Amino acid sequence: MSKELDELVSRSQKLGSDQSLVVYGGGNTSSKGEILDHLNRKRKVLWVKGSGADMSNAVAKDYPGLYLEELDALKQFDALTDEEMTDLVARALVDPTSRRPSIETLLHAFLPFKHIDHVHADVICALTNHKNGEKAVREALGEGFAYVDWIRPGFELSKQVSFLKDAEGVVLAHHGLIVWDEDTDKCEEKTYLAVEKAQKYLDSLTERPESLFIHNDISDDDFRNLMLQLRGRLNKSGKKILTLDTRLKEISERKDLAEIVKAGVSSADHMLRIKPFSAIIEAEPVKAIEEFSKHYQAYFEENKSLLPAGYSMHDPDPKVLLVRSKGAILASQSRAENQMLADISFHTHKTHAMAKDAFENVEGLPSSEIFKFDYWPMELFKLQSKPKPKSFAGSIFIVTGAGSGIGRGIAIDLANHGAALVLADADEAGLAQTLNELSTQDVVTSAGDQTDPAVVEKTVLAAIDNFGGLDGVVFSAGIGVTDKLEDLTLEKWNKGLSVNLTSAFLLTKAAMKVMRKQNSGGALVYIASKNAFAPGAGFGGYSVSKAGMLQLMRIAALEGGEANIRANAINPDAIFENSKLWEGGIREQRAAAHGVRPEELEDFYATRNLLGQKISAQDVANTVNFLLSEKSLKTTGAVLAVDGGVAAGFPR
Ligand SMILES: [Zn+2]
Repeated sequence: MSKELDELVSRSQKLGSDQSLVVYGGGNTSSKGEILDHLNRKRKVLWVKGSGADMSNAVAKDYPGLYLEELDALKQFDALTDEEMTDLVARALVDPTSRRPSIETLLHAFLPFKHIDHVHADVICALTNHKNGEKAVREALGEGFAYVDWIRPGFELSKQVSFLKDAEGVVLAHHGLIVWDEDTDKCEEKTYLAVEKAQKYLDSLTERPESLFIHNDISDDDFRNLMLQLRGRLNKSGKKILTLDTRLKEISERKDLAEIVKAGVSSADHMLRIKPFSAIIEAEPVKAIEEFSKHYQAYFEENKSLLPAGYSMHDPDPKVLLVRSKGAILASQSRAENQMLADISFHTHKTHAMAKDAFENVEGLPSSEIFKFDYWPMELFKLQSKPKPKSFAGSIFIVTGAGSGIGRGIAIDLANHGAALVLADADEAGLAQTLNELSTQDVVTSAGDQTDPAVVEKTVLAAIDNFGGLDGVVFSAGIGVTDKLEDLTLEKWNKGLSVNLTSAFLLTKAAMKVMRKQNSGGALVYIASKNAFAPGAGFGGYSVSKAGMLQLMRIAALEGGEANIRANAINPDAIFENSKLWEGGIREQRAAAHGVRPEELEDFYATRNLLGQKISAQDVANTVNFLLSEKSLKTTGAVLAVDGGVAAGFPR
């Protein structure tokens, strides 16, 4: 690897590790050097960060090389559209298959310096985002730094900056900082030095009297209710996961919060991730979202004439919601995305709070400039080429009995479809094994005896506290109970009822309460059994509990209907895969009842059904998927058999 490219990667990693300089793909860095091309000719090249690459984990392939001579030749143009510019820049790539270079490539190419760093530093944006930005930059950084008013990145900005090569560096209003040097270490230092000077200057102007804060204590229960109300409303434009980040707690308590939020994002590219504005949630949370949405639609209408052909309005609901004395609630389809929203909104609002403290006013971009960035075709294209979200992305489900058998199979299937999961089971080791088989980060476990109301409560709270709500429950926990009635002990009978039925009642009760508060419907899916309709002699304790489960499902359907809570059941038969149901002598006992050897039991069950099929956990999971999904929105109170066809067990 060339020395300069090597230096570029390590410098980028260092700058990228500090989120007050760049967050999630923001900023860009470059170096210039020489390489031997494919015909062994010595050529000057520019290595520049690829579009969207994250500096914090920079690697050489994030930095495509471009022939400098080809880029320099573009200076002859007076103007280029974004499309013309990116097309011409792409033609200069050393390797045409490398990743697309930054939209700010020409800014790096047109400046004649070996190393150039461009960051979106918080304190630099705090210097510019108010009425007297230019004056503040001069006072903070000295006359050596040039100041450029807001222009969206592209050819014009690159050309303007190329005329400023005699400056020490450049500050771009509402955007960030550019510094350069012939030496990589000195270049890196210049960013830190400018940031330090800006910070000192801001500190020298800042006073923050305690009286400017409003404290609003909110109990855990009230906060959970708030989350449910917010989620119910936000779900209208697609299911969302909601999480809380407390870093903005102090800023959320400021009296001037509305003014800080109104100034929008601190560095323009933040708006592509977190939207141009955040919402403030006070007394009436649902109304606050409605108002935010109305405001966004008005902004869209006002600027619609600037909308490029072929595009329509983004989802008008907020992604970042600020709650007094709590911080920021983030809404997206995964916890990882929420973490990104949390990091960016923290930096953006903190920066504007700094500006307000230092200058007593804070000013974002004008609405038309925000719109041009919010609906920038270069960025819209990136959004459109993102893969479509999975069918259950943003949905939150509880699965009981997830430590083995059918429950595990269902958990794996739901995770594969993008759902966020709370997995419950008394068997902790089994749960750990299920976790090992899941690829998602959006999963938590609730180990414990789910016949204990306190444990059930904990399971339901895990869904709210980790993901912000609940969309469905799959009741899959169950044990087998053998013996003829005359031999069945009261203890075994009670145990079967308690695990198979009472636990389902307790969770139904707790889940329905949460769903009703959330007010966006819900789906309850009960894994009963073929035995509910076609019981077996010597298997009464089990069969009675499963018949009870069907009745529980019907009552839940009756009582939940008006809140759009659907309840349905699945009757599987004879699933052996990872199942503990057949342990403890049950396999032997059922085999004896059917007059076959224990090892023949699985084949026996397959031959007795109409389709001659063995039933797998995946077969049940497919039906669970249907009953949790919008495909079954008009179905409640139903029983679906997944048993290969057992005439005696036909639902009736
Ligand atoms: Zn930039």
